[in-house]
Amino acid sequence: MDAVAALNEIAFWLERGRAATFKVQAFRKAAGVIAPLPPEEVADRVRSGRLKSMKGIGDRTYQVIRDAVEGQVPDYLADLREKGAQPLASGGTAIREALRGDLHSHSEWSDGGSPIELMVAAAGVLGRDYLALTDHSPNLTIANGLSAERLLQQLDVVAAINDGTHPGSDGKQDQRVRLLTGIEVDILESGELDQDPELLDRLDIVVASVHSKLRSDRKTMTRRMLKGIEDPHTNVLGHCTGRLVEGSRGTRPPSEFDAKEVFAACAEHNVAVEINSRPERQDPPDALIQLALDAGCLFSIDSDAHAPGQLDFLQYGAERADRNGVPADRIVTTWPVERLLEWAGAN
Ligand SMILES: [Zn+2]
Ligand SMILES: [Zn+2]
Repeated sequence: MDAVAALNEIAFWLERGRAATFKVQAFRKAAGVIAPLPPEEVADRVRSGRLKSMKGIGDRTYQVIRDAVEGQVPDYLADLREKGAQPLASGGTAIREALRGDLHSHSEWSDGGSPIELMVAAAGVLGRDYLALTDHSPNLTIANGLSAERLLQQLDVVAAINDGTHPGSDGKQDQRVRLLTGIEVDILESGELDQDPELLDRLDIVVASVHSKLRSDRKTMTRRMLKGIEDPHTNVLGHCTGRLVEGSRGTRPPSEFDAKEVFAACAEHNVAVEINSRPERQDPPDALIQLALDAGCLFSIDSDAHAPGQLDFLQYGAERADRNGVPADRIVTTWPVERLLEWAGAN
């Protein structure tokens, strides 16, 4: 098998299983080291042992490359595939199977760990019809948020990936997945969205999220969120409470806001409430999903993936939606791409 593909697939399974980043990066890095070399050159370096002394190749990655070059599925990969055949979440099968896309993902252009084309390839392997690329907006400097200029550059890259002319993209896989243009735009303290309105106009999907001053008082936070929801560009309200329930960043209580008012505004302005699938977020909490259901809201089950393997986190979101009795037809990410784009008002 192809050694680069083997290394990337191992990284994918490790990410999906929430392995430590450094462990995953060893495989991604090794894939990056050998990717520019012609396959015969890699095989040659395996035979002569020269591969072992290359920077970025360790014992484990060397073994994987050697097995792949010799035409075998590396043992390490075979193990991971076997474990990966198990679903991540025990429930929500019907909704999981109904999901066609994902409206929230990040690439290395902001704080994700991988190039856009690897995200798209993984979405293809997972059988998705569409994936929105929603890197951060300028205000989120710690996450390397995109300036208007960089976002414009990214739009060209997305177009090239979609028509198969981007150098790094694997035409066959990518053609199955439509990559939607998008942004995860900060709802600033003023309630305004953190990007030029003309540029937001051009995007397929706008996820609007609060990332700062999460401990504001209820009135201030409600006002801020309502303004973000009322902005005609907003399609999805991202991780509405900002809570963290587990993980390396520690925990964080949910923000306080008038959920009834906020969800009524979402329903009125045709903004989907995100069910953020990240295990450390699980946002919104169950009680708020119920409130949003009662308010007549639509939902978007999103991965908020920062790496290819995390795209499969949608399984957790599907389980939560199912547990809360969210009907599949009210989940926009179960819709075909044409219906989705019509809803989002995209051109
Ligand atoms: Zn976010
Ligand atoms: Zn995000």
